[in-house]
Amino acid sequence: MPILTLREYIVAGMQVQVGCMGGCGHRHKIDFQKLMDIYGPDMDAVEALRAGTRCRHCGAGTMFVTYPYTG
Ligand SMILES: [Zn+2]
Repeated sequence: MPILTLREYIVAGMQVQVGCMGGCGHRHKIDFQKLMDIYGPDMDAVEALRAGTRCRHCGAGTMFVTYPYTG
């Protein structure tokens, strides 16, 4: 699977949801624009997702990508 950068995700209009692994069941959509502000446009999107997502509900550090889809 090719590496996709944050910019490529945004250009492609990709949307990704993450789910909390802390057990609260919280889910939210990824704001790629915000990740790009933090990591820059050439960051590997998957790495940015791993590093830059945290559950806003219970604060658990590990979120995972549940399903990417094109909107
Ligand atoms: Zn949570």
